[in-house]
Amino acid sequence: MSLSLIPPPTQQINSEIFSRAGVEVSVLRLDLMHPWVNGNKWFKLKYNLLAAKEDNYTTILTFGGAYSNHIYATAAAGNLLGFRTIGVIRGEERLPLNPTLSFAVEQGMQLVYIDRETYRQRHTPELHADLRQRFGEVFIIPEGGCNLNGVRGCTEILSEVTAEFDTICVACGTATTLAGLTLSLQPKQRSLGFPVLKNGDFLKQDITNLLTQYLASGLPAPSSTAAPWELVCDYHFGGYAKVNDQLVSFIDEFTQSYGIPLDYVYTAKMFYGVIDLIRKGDLGGDQLRWAERHRLLLIHTGGLQGNLSMKNIKRAN
Ligand SMILES: *Cc1c(COP(=O)(O)O)cnc(C)c1O
Repeated sequence: MSLSLIPPPTQQINSEIFSRAGVEVSVLRLDLMHPWVNGNKWFKLKYNLLAAKEDNYTTILTFGGAYSNHIYATAAAGNLLGFRTIGVIRGEERLPLNPTLSFAVEQGMQLVYIDRETYRQRHTPELHADLRQRFGEVFIIPEGGCNLNGVRGCTEILSEVTAEFDTICVACGTATTLAGLTLSLQPKQRSLGFPVLKNGDFLKQDITNLLTQYLASGLPAPSSTAAPWELVCDYHFGGYAKVNDQLVSFIDEFTQSYGIPLDYVYTAKMFYGVIDLIRKGDLGGDQLRWAERHRLLLIHTGGLQGNLSMKNIKRAN
């Protein structure tokens, strides 16, 4: 099973704010690995697709919203690797299809819409049994690739990084990516997660569970313990996929200054948060004072495909 992926480059970014604060900031560009199959979504898919191949499945079924980066990546990776794909989409069909879903269809994905209430059952064996009855022997990957195979792939995100760093910063939805990254750090390194959902504190329990389950699973782990991690919950901008003018101008300015595009849903909120904390001289609370953790690696988790749809939404308003 192979895709031609470019190893993600690390790019240092400079600003007066950083040098005044004595921090070094680099960006790991997972967005550049492949035109379609990139970002953390590829890492979360990798071992799920390998497991499907190993068990001789020919069809992948997965779940997502209408703008989902995971649906987009699964459609493309499935097509490139010779799987049929079925995307179970939350809510009703809207025509014309948005850019995310039309891309998925172009890649050969079959779309199936289920109402929001049924969608809530997406993790249950009952719904999975229904779907298998409808679509036959399908290999089911959870929404977002959020399972232990997903964590496993994310333990490899840093494997090609040669730059030295003390702290990694990453945007969190389910925090599967944060969990994998944290398992691959040295004990002296730290990870800081920036939840993009409101009241992101609930993720603490999820992260603890994922780490415990992973370490008990017997799956390969780079180390037998997880490095310290912390969440910064103040940069959700009102909740999932919510933006305001401040965030939009930040994206424009950041992209102009550094030539690095950001997505509205995930990476922009983390980058904004990191830069704001550096400006305030307080990066991540007492345990992780930036003064002792001065080399930061910001993980660009991709997601840029979603910007096409965001632009449409804004224009529509
Ligand atoms: C899905 C996604 C995330 C969140 O990943 P989790 O593992 O669910 O925390 C972050 N950034 C981008 C661009 C994503 O698409």
